[in-house]
Amino acid sequence: MASTTTTPNPAATEAPLMISVSGVRGIVGATMTPVVAAQFAAAFGTWLKRRSPGDDFVVCLGRDSRPSGLMINRAASSGLMSIGATVIDLGVVATPTVGIMIDRHNAAGGMMITASHNPIQWNGMKSLNSDGLAPPVDEASQIIERFHKRDFEYVSVHKLQQSRIDDRGNALHVEKVLAAIDPEPIRSARFKVVLDSVNGAGCVAGRSLLEQLGCEIVHINGDPTGQFAHTPEPVKENLTQLATVVAKEGAAVGFAQDPDADRLAIVDENGTYIGEEYTLALAAWRVFKRSGGGATAANLSTSRMIDDVAAKFPGSSVERTAVGEANVVASLKSKHGVIGGEGNGGVIYPPVCWVRDSLGAMALVLALMADKATTVSELVAELPKYAMVKTKYDLSNIGGAAVVPAMLQRVAEQYANERMNASDGVRVDFADGWVHLRPSNTEPIVRLIAEAESETRANELVKSFAACAGL
Ligand code: MG
Repeated sequence: MASTTTTPNPAATEAPLMISVSGVRGIVGATMTPVVAAQFAAAFGTWLKRRSPGDDFVVCLGRDSRPSGLMINRAASSGLMSIGATVIDLGVVATPTVGIMIDRHNAAGGMMITASHNPIQWNGMKSLNSDGLAPPVDEASQIIERFHKRDFEYVSVHKLQQSRIDDRGNALHVEKVLAAIDPEPIRSARFKVVLDSVNGAGCVAGRSLLEQLGCEIVHINGDPTGQFAHTPEPVKENLTQLATVVAKEGAAVGFAQDPDADRLAIVDENGTYIGEEYTLALAAWRVFKRSGGGATAANLSTSRMIDDVAAKFPGSSVERTAVGEANVVASLKSKHGVIGGEGNGGVIYPPVCWVRDSLGAMALVLALMADKATTVSELVAELPKYAMVKTKYDLSNIGGAAVVPAMLQRVAEQYANERMNASDGVRVDFADGWVHLRPSNTEPIVRLIAEAESETRANELVKSFAACAGL
């Protein structure tokens, strides 16, 4: 295929524009172009305008630090303005900051230019509605349909509005986190903290938060240049530098943000990566400790540790939702949940915002350490130990996505006498573990995740489920 790019990018031909409920994502200069950005923003803007009474509607626009951010931002801004939006340009901010600024400006919605943990070649756009949260599936589908149909409602020149800059996002976000927790015990503890911001959008606010919490900070990869110092997903193999620095510096904890600073991973005081699943468990523990319990929500693929934490506080409840931030938020809203999130290090703390937020998560983990006057490794030791096994299966050779309904049916029948949740694929809970079989929304694959008290048992669960499903 002919290409007009000057630097060949082999991945470009393999990666189509990914369109999903969480937004669009593609490779810059190949599938993610200014044209796509303007059109997706125009589709989103038209959808927002239809929901907003009156002519005047404001949209907050943020971006992560990647080098293509400004280019995509300008295109998205044009798309939004063409529909008649007043665009508030927030500059480089974390995804949750956009949620906070939507509230501040009483905006109709917001957009974040980010490809989250994808490498530097990628960029994308996430939409947030007027409540500052990811639109649920039905609303996201309406935006996607408008984008596909190029169904935009451009305004006449007399109705065009302007764009203006509001660079207070980072400061206001930090202020909101400090107001939502009790910062004094953390300040008194004077923790030494290593923060790895991967040169992403969380650099400025992350550092400012820790400073205002009285921490001694060792900030690595702390310039928001978008030149990611390591593969950006905050998982063990990418955080070896953080682990080394924590051990060398004798720090109390190490935190890693992803490029748009919605996810947080933790390294303990010995320099051991504890796993992303612990972020939500520890944050929830602190919230429950102070509130005495309450409702929480986590998606079906999230560790059972959240149930163990909730069990420490009588009267607490855990609702399991379909995978997707919007589903967790919907449950938190309907049950007045005190905290929720996802096992990938995504903590949603409603007093701050309705978006996964690494800043709120950092503050809550430090607050738990301060309240219990203990170390991260001791907190980890207080929770049951589980092994999680994650696998995926390509369906292209066995009939693609069409085989999924029958597959789920077989599994549901086989395990009909067990505790089951079929709201997103099938999850079955046993006394000593659980398995979740779930089709991807975007690719012809199914994911199979199991958690148990030992890796052997988790593997056994995966094996028996796969056999039953015909994988
Ligand atoms: Mg992210």
